[in-house]
Amino acid sequence: MRKKLLLGNWKMNKTPSEAKAFALAASEMVDYAVAHNIEVGVAPTFVSLAAVKENINPKCIVAAQNVNEHDHGAFTGEVSIAMLKEVGIDWVILGHSERREYNGETSPVCNLKIKALLAADMTPVYCCGESLDTFEKGQTKEWVSKQIREGFAGLSAEDAKKVVIAYEPIWAIGTGKSASKETAEDTISFIRGVLRELYGETAEEIRILYGGSVKPANVAEYMSEPDIDGALVGGASLEPDSFKGLIEGMLK
Ligand code: PEP
Repeated sequence: MRKKLLLGNWKMNKTPSEAKAFALAASEMVDYAVAHNIEVGVAPTFVSLAAVKENINPKCIVAAQNVNEHDHGAFTGEVSIAMLKEVGIDWVILGHSERREYNGETSPVCNLKIKALLAADMTPVYCCGESLDTFEKGQTKEWVSKQIREGFAGLSAEDAKKVVIAYEPIWAIGTGKSASKETAEDTISFIRGVLRELYGETAEEIRILYGGSVKPANVAEYMSEPDIDGALVGGASLEPDSFKGLIEGMLK
């Protein structure tokens, strides 16, 4: 049985003091989610990770939005796995479409990062998803299949089941134009099919989230689909009330 997961991606929002205020406000809702068998987490910017980790309910996952695949060295502006671990972080989002677009994060680079994280007993959240043009040309499945195969290259089934996938159609991110639950399920069940091809029955254990304009009002629709195990949420994860609404929506 795959556990439901709600992960908030705060992107480049909230100063450390604002992030801390959210952390302090979230204590009860994290307990509520966990009591109802939902895992929850937030992904602040690097400079807010320590403040959030120190002040949030310890049952809440705190994830970074990126990590470098090298141990240390001349990589100006980058953050290593050891640095994250020292502030108590063991989840990392990888391959978000914004990082793919603005920071040249490719699937093969994500593959190196996934391997480095797994070797450090950390959990990668690997994002995939197609542009509007690819969607309109009917090439979504080909596109995400490549992203999944490249991201998971060389992973054993044992490793693969520790990775969380987030399917996020780029045209639905931050646009208010969410994919229908049928479209999301169609692609996510296809991704599970690719994983089945690669890993057999282990594919049933890998969590796949939907992301793209998820809100308290529509999260229940996605959760009603058999292959969708939760949501990666940007805008609607920023305020405690809305985050609580997402948790409640997941339980409908
Ligand atoms: C995201 O940042 O991953 C995301 C899905 O954003 P939004 O929920 O705002 O569309």
